[in-house]
Amino acid sequence: MQFIDTHLHLQDYKTGFATDILNSASSQGVEKVVCVSSLMEDWDKVAHFARTYASSVVPAFGLHPWYVRQAKPDWQQRLREFLIRFPQALIGECGLDRIKNPDDEPQNSVFYGQIMLANELNRPLIIHAVKAQDWLENYWDMLPPKFVFHSYNGKREVLKKIISHGGYVSFCASILRNADKEELVNMVPLDKILLETDGPYQGPDKNSEVTPAYLPTLAAEIAALRHENLEDFAMRVYHNAKEFIHV
Ligand SMILES: [Zn+2]
Repeated sequence: MQFIDTHLHLQDYKTGFATDILNSASSQGVEKVVCVSSLMEDWDKVAHFARTYASSVVPAFGLHPWYVRQAKPDWQQRLREFLIRFPQALIGECGLDRIKNPDDEPQNSVFYGQIMLANELNRPLIIHAVKAQDWLENYWDMLPPKFVFHSYNGKREVLKKIISHGGYVSFCASILRNADKEELVNMVPLDKILLETDGPYQGPDKNSEVTPAYLPTLAAEIAALRHENLEDFAMRVYHNAKEFIHV
């Protein structure tokens, strides 16, 4: 079976080197990972991984809503430069988070700026949204053709909106701790499901760093919740990821 981890932060591991993490992932069939940025300081690091491990690391450049206040005034210009240098790069992660950051600005304008860049440069958009249901109402009709809500673990109503707008839904181990996990994972059409670890952060054990080698175990858990054959499910999700990241 082949897998693509559609969301992790290689630059954030405290235990383990990128080479070892990617080698052990590849021994489990995880052939690619999307290495996602959170803040401007990540962009050079993510670019370095994308150049060093060109066959396995797909870069994503963006500004996470937790860190929007730290962004320099020229962030939009710098982001555009990274995206032009890396034509395969996605945008993210970006979005809205009312738990960590209750203020509506600058997170709304920074999210809006990244949506506009995704439309202009035709790049997939990786969205982080937490307790942002009302704010999201302003954005549904302007999202780019390809977008994903990553680490989905939210409400049914928001999930319905993502699906009705043609978005992808990505699950990591956090969904397995949700009391409604069975219903939520079964709501998503098979051709819109993606899988991720959000490594090093959201693994099955909160006290240790999760690596992309965990992806086959996650796939087995989600396939079981959907009562699907693991090999068929893994193949579909792998193709979904390829379609999403255009490789
Ligand atoms: Zn993340």
